[in-house]
Amino acid sequence: MNVLIVEDERSLSHEMEIYLTKQGLHCDVAFTGAKALEMMWVNSYDFVLLDIGLPDTNGFEILKEAKKNAIDSAFIVLTARSETDDKILGLDLGADDYLAKPFSLPELHARMQAILRRKHGLKVQIIDINGFMMDYQNRTLTYEETPVVLTKKEFDLLHYLALHKGRVLSRSQLTEHIWGDVMDDDYDSNYIDVHVKNLRKKLAAHAPIEWFETVRGIGYRLNAQ
Ligand code: CA
Repeated sequence: MNVLIVEDERSLSHEMEIYLTKQGLHCDVAFTGAKALEMMWVNSYDFVLLDIGLPDTNGFEILKEAKKNAIDSAFIVLTARSETDDKILGLDLGADDYLAKPFSLPELHARMQAILRRKHGLKVQIIDINGFMMDYQNRTLTYEETPVVLTKKEFDLLHYLALHKGRVLSRSQLTEHIWGDVMDDDYDSNYIDVHVKNLRKKLAAHAPIEWFETVRGIGYRLNAQ
């Protein structure tokens, strides 16, 4: 079970990390919103424990961004603010639960287990990529209910671009995501172009894909319509 702890109070994030690790969970920690989002794009977390008051942003913004991109982690909002507005806003934005600080670590763990029981076997999230519907869990892509058959790498490439919609991703970023950090000596950066070319051909057979942009000299970008 993977957990991302997003909390800038170092002593609290450290305590959570130690306690949850002892319960057999694998924990990563982010102290800023930017780092949290970056980690969420790259890894898949069962839980995100999300502080609201972060140095660079507000936890609600992270939650919005994650939900918009169909990140399907369970979110528990942690806040020191006492207003019930925070709780309502958090739950409205799709948080699974809410804990007011200070909270006990066993209480946190119990809430996580309750969420797991509730979510078990539940819900498929679909990302809409300009009409192409991507079901990440089942690894399918359809356009107007017609299946679009992609290879594993093409699927991962499209998913990664979709998660970073509106941003230019360099060839090396894409390569690192698709092949991992370690690459063979005979790795050739043209591979990514070949995969993109094939992916485009498959998508274009169903609908115009002018939203799939080549950024000369850098890489690629998906533009939302
Ligand atoms: Ca904080």
